[in-house]
Amino acid sequence: MSDLIRKSVQAMAGYVPGEQPKGEDIVKLNTNENPYLPSADVQDILSMIDVAVLSRYPDPVCIELRKAIAELHGCEVENVFVGNGSDEVLALCIRAFVERDGSVGFFDPSYSLYSVLADIEDVEKKPVVLGPAFQWQMPDDYASSLFFLTNPNAPTSMQFSKANVGAFVKDFKGVVLVDEAYADFAAENCMDLALQHDNVLVARTLSKAYSLAGIRLGYCVGNADLIGAMYKIKDSYNVNYLTQEVARVAILDQDTMKANVQAIVETRKITAEKLSELGFEVAESQSNFLWVKPLDFSAKGLFEELRKKNIVVRYFGNDELTKDYLRITIGTAPEMFKFLDVVEELMRDA
Ligand code: PMP
Repeated sequence: MSDLIRKSVQAMAGYVPGEQPKGEDIVKLNTNENPYLPSADVQDILSMIDVAVLSRYPDPVCIELRKAIAELHGCEVENVFVGNGSDEVLALCIRAFVERDGSVGFFDPSYSLYSVLADIEDVEKKPVVLGPAFQWQMPDDYASSLFFLTNPNAPTSMQFSKANVGAFVKDFKGVVLVDEAYADFAAENCMDLALQHDNVLVARTLSKAYSLAGIRLGYCVGNADLIGAMYKIKDSYNVNYLTQEVARVAILDQDTMKANVQAIVETRKITAEKLSELGFEVAESQSNFLWVKPLDFSAKGLFEELRKKNIVVRYFGNDELTKDYLRITIGTAPEMFKFLDVVEELMRDA
């Protein structure tokens, strides 16, 4: 059987997304989703869609949606690529910009999918280990043709300064994809670098700040030639009709997105303060999650105890760099108070 499968695929462990448990009493803080409702315009557009349109293929190049995104960022439609989640955007970057004998750089730790995507395409990986407190580390290998730079970084929640990112992209010869999945929760972002430098793409998603993980819509902005290359190789109809419509109205309603982001940022502050009081080391988050190190409890032990109480957070397993940490998505204030109560109780009983 195995000789039917590419050797590189046989060797892969595969990407393991966070679990998606269902159930009323589960507090789900493990996959960085948004606990609030998306724009009310989403419900309206879904009620108004005539199902007859669904018998036809959607616009393969998503013009109306790209117009809305271009307007938001002050660029042209030719500067915008939209994909089936930003995961598809990332995958297409490797296929468009990395030769078979080329390599992909990324920070370690950062988004674990990059390594999987490199394995799928069977290209070399060049991880750059971050500083001891997960801080910026200028990559010293400039030979890769693509660098995935997560900012704010995941799972560490912290933001690299625009000055550092700007200095790096100026010297790096290949394409830098700045993955800004969490930028809406951050104090600054690098979108203007995508419009100033020919080798920079900035990726965003509607899965986090817009409360629309279920529609699968991500995009990137950058030089029209790079965007054009991605359009050459994408699937014919990579973004379905319903997603195009829902994403367009959600992007037009910036007020709802910003109000939800503000609520999450406030809850993030309260949660971080309380965890620090309880003796956790808490990274300075610029995202919708916290990266924490419990000091009187093992991270794995706490993860397991929380799971028994129906609170699901993310533990990344035995990797040396991340084994002492948990990643905790910011939910609603009541969810976070419940989480904090249980943590306090577990600490008391420990
Ligand atoms: N980039 C980062 C850094 C992420 O954490 C995620 C979410 N897992 C993604 C991209 C993927 O987002 P999307 O839902 O748009 O595929």
